[in-house]
Amino acid sequence: MANHLFDLVTARIPAPDAPFALLDDGRRYSYAEMVAVSARFANALVALGVKPGDRVAVQVEKSIEALMLYLGTIRAGAVFLPLNTAYTPAEIEYFLGDAEPAVFVCDPARAEALRPQAAKAGARLETLGVATGTLFDKTAGASAAFADVARGPDDLAAILYTSGTTGRSKGAMLSHDNLASNALALVDYWRFSKDDRLLHALPIFHTHGLFVATNVVLFAGASMILLPKFDPEQIMKYLPQATCMMGVPTFYVRLLQDPRLTQEATRHMRLFVSGSAPLLAETHREWRERTGHAILERYGMTETNMNTSNPYEGERVAGTVGFPLPGVSARVTDPETGGTLGADEIGMIEVKGPNVFKGYWRNPEKTKSEFRDDGFFITGDLGKIDAAGYVHIVGRGKDLIITGGYNVYPKEVETEIDEMPGVVESAVIGCPHPDFGEGVTAVVVVKPGAEITAASISKALDQRLARFKLPKQVFIVPELPRNTMGKVQKNLLRDSYRDIYAKSAKAGE
Ligand code: AMP
Repeated sequence: MANHLFDLVTARIPAPDAPFALLDDGRRYSYAEMVAVSARFANALVALGVKPGDRVAVQVEKSIEALMLYLGTIRAGAVFLPLNTAYTPAEIEYFLGDAEPAVFVCDPARAEALRPQAAKAGARLETLGVATGTLFDKTAGASAAFADVARGPDDLAAILYTSGTTGRSKGAMLSHDNLASNALALVDYWRFSKDDRLLHALPIFHTHGLFVATNVVLFAGASMILLPKFDPEQIMKYLPQATCMMGVPTFYVRLLQDPRLTQEATRHMRLFVSGSAPLLAETHREWRERTGHAILERYGMTETNMNTSNPYEGERVAGTVGFPLPGVSARVTDPETGGTLGADEIGMIEVKGPNVFKGYWRNPEKTKSEFRDDGFFITGDLGKIDAAGYVHIVGRGKDLIITGGYNVYPKEVETEIDEMPGVVESAVIGCPHPDFGEGVTAVVVVKPGAEITAASISKALDQRLARFKLPKQVFIVPELPRNTMGKVQKNLLRDSYRDIYAKSAKAGE
């Protein structure tokens, strides 16, 4: 048996000396170096006692070495388990205890702080930085030849913990074919070729930067400019050398603030992709006006890889996430009965396909409750499919507001507010309310100097929305809380505003 994922990568190498990665410090990695260095990492892991199926947990800064560790882990038949660099030692303790990795690789600067957590979980501690660390030193002495460990399509390649905004994070088990089938579908759908050069500024502990961006480059035999993080200066510097970029919506919003973003600056670009959080229709429009490019928005999640995408050719409709990818089925169901709904009816988005994960790590009950009997995965996202087949997301199911027995979809209210002149963006949440169960609450960011107030927003909405959808309170804030993937953290907003109606009831308002 072969190594399913890595065999597909090697089969697509255009030429040994073809470029794979160009680094900001001037280093260049050819495909031959990618094969050799990932072999060194695989040898180093095997020498540490890593066996097929063992987890290799990794919390390191973004680097080419970290990507080589990912590939080395796959080649050694082990399971790659990346962890958000923002996690604290207490959080790391939970992940290591849950995943029981054979090895835990951390940043050299954090080794002492994390040694107790590794010891408690029985994991061997190694460190890795940019061309440094105990694991890096071991690779220096290791052979550049490695016989890849046999792994089939259904064997685990990675475990990615969900961001866990409610309850504890769960480990999503992703097989070799979950990753490979999705990479192949995306290369095809987005017309990637060996001539592409991707501007890679996403973190690599998340599905977007690790699998969508990196695997698409590998499966196309393309190259990437690997940047340590998103920095508009760096993006503007490297844009002329790239053909495509993948980003979260915040990338696009921030780049629009840069006067150097012009049609000329993006002349070499073939494709801009956005995902991980909703792209405002206004951002889509502004980007198109400034650069002439229509951002291609797609939809995926840790558990499923990518599910839908706007078309490469054909209309990329702002505010939608496009069509199910080839091989992926999507449907919208009634959250109560599970019955399939018709066009334009809002319900739960469910998906099925080779991209969908194998279940939650050591959590068969949770896995069972998230799948239908016919194999569809219940995404937890609410949305609809319109008559033309475009999927629209209206928000996470847990963000649905139930006020006085009526359902309010936050997106509908947010869209109305976002369209008002002077508004940058908004988040609509439900806060506990003594009479209504939940009170619709709007948190709004306005443009500097805009003559717009909470009262004027409420007044304008009065004309546009049914009474039960109207926010009972509107707050103007300087910015919305976001996580590293650019997602608005509504759970934090709900915490901040949890007592507002209790207080107003007491004050007799
Ligand atoms: P994660 O598992 O961190 O990748 O988060 C997945 C979730 O991000 C999905 O379930 C959606 O709620 C959200 N998401 C991803 N892409 C989009 C998008 N293009 N528009 C709206 N929400 C998105």
